Amino acid sequence: MALIVQKYGGTSMGSPERIRNVARRVAKFRDAGHQVVVVVSAMSGETNRLIALAKEIQAHPDPRELDVVISTGEQVTIGLLCMALKDAGVDAKSYTGGQARILTDNTFNKARILNIESDNLRRDLDSGKVVVVAGFQGVDAAGNFTTLGRGGSDTTGVALAAALSADECQIYTDVDGVYTTDPRIVSEARKLDVITFEEMLEMASQGSKVLQIRSVEFAGKYKVKLRVLSSFQDEGEGTLITVEEGKQMEEPIISGIAFNRDEAKLTVQGVPDRPGIAYQILGPVADANIDVDMIIQNVGHDGTTDFSFTVNRSEFEKTKAVLESVRQHIGAREIVGDNKVCKVSAVGVGMRSHPGVASQMFRVLAEEGINIRMISTSEIKIAVVLDEKYLELAVRVLHRAFGLDQG
Ligand code: ASP
Ligand code: MG
Repeated sequence: MALIVQKYGGTSMGSPERIRNVARRVAKFRDAGHQVVVVVSAMSGETNRLIALAKEIQAHPDPRELDVVISTGEQVTIGLLCMALKDAGVDAKSYTGGQARILTDNTFNKARILNIESDNLRRDLDSGKVVVVAGFQGVDAAGNFTTLGRGGSDTTGVALAAALSADECQIYTDVDGVYTTDPRIVSEARKLDVITFEEMLEMASQGSKVLQIRSVEFAGKYKVKLRVLSSFQDEGEGTLITVEEGKQMEEPIISGIAFNRDEAKLTVQGVPDRPGIAYQILGPVADANIDVDMIIQNVGHDGTTDFSFTVNRSEFEKTKAVLESVRQHIGAREIVGDNKVCKVSAVGVGMRSHPGVASQMFRVLAEEGINIRMISTSEIKIAVVLDEKYLELAVRVLHRAFGLDQG
């Protein structure tokens, strides 16, 4: 007997018929003698609908009240799935995030899980029940509803698997695993059988939307065995996300090409070149809760320098406003921005032992006449910022150049 956490995304929960389908799958695992905890998302489109509704009332919704509204989507699906399970003869009980004692900090809309008091869940599991927990939500110490950021149900699933020391956390979605790149852009993309936590983390933070970044961090930290599978197929092992030793010896140098369209680049020009300037620029940006990605500071000329970084495109205007007050404060010349950029990254642990991957990547892009705007690297990743119009081309040529095409 194993303890399995299964997370079903919005598409898998998208209609009564699909919810019954999920119930059948859960029942199968239960009948095989396993204990099952199910984590669900809201029905597809529902969270977007709730956010839009909130914005119709208030252009910038109050963060606490927004969480009250958008956490309702998952409250609907836990109840519906339990009904479907009971109809299929499976004893089940629903839990909201608060009822499951998923305790978070009080950063509304982006809360972090601090602790899960799982005694009640365990008691129900031991009495033979399937436990169905609302993804994406928790409560803070004062009992306020909180949510974990878009896509946060993945993190709920992994966190519960860690708290319950589950044997496996299965993320059911509308694709059958993690691919070398998005098959909608490159039809030759292949499903990976295995990927390391580190690679998955880079893929997720470089734009691959299969798993929420935080869930991968969590899984790596607590060594949760994580698997991505399709909820629409009965066969298939999906993709196992694991520690590096689990990978085969003959691994490819590059495991995948990730990309993100939603990038924006900002530059503070004519910054006085003196100690503390990076902090003076990025401190207020961090205080405004804006995530910064690539950062470049140029060589100084005549006592000034240029300072560039990227943010998510949705935070472009907000960042510009923050920088404008910084500019006045530090006496910089000008803020320039470009929100028509994208990021393309090659990811692979094999890079560690193979020099020259970066230059190969730059050569391939040069041959296509693609101008690189920014570069950043880590041990297992090379990322470039490009003009948005080059995204598809860059992904396609890199996928081919690194030998990832099928067949
Ligand atoms: N329903 C939430 C969202 O759409 C959480 C999730 O699906 O993981 O972002
Ligand atoms: Mg998701």
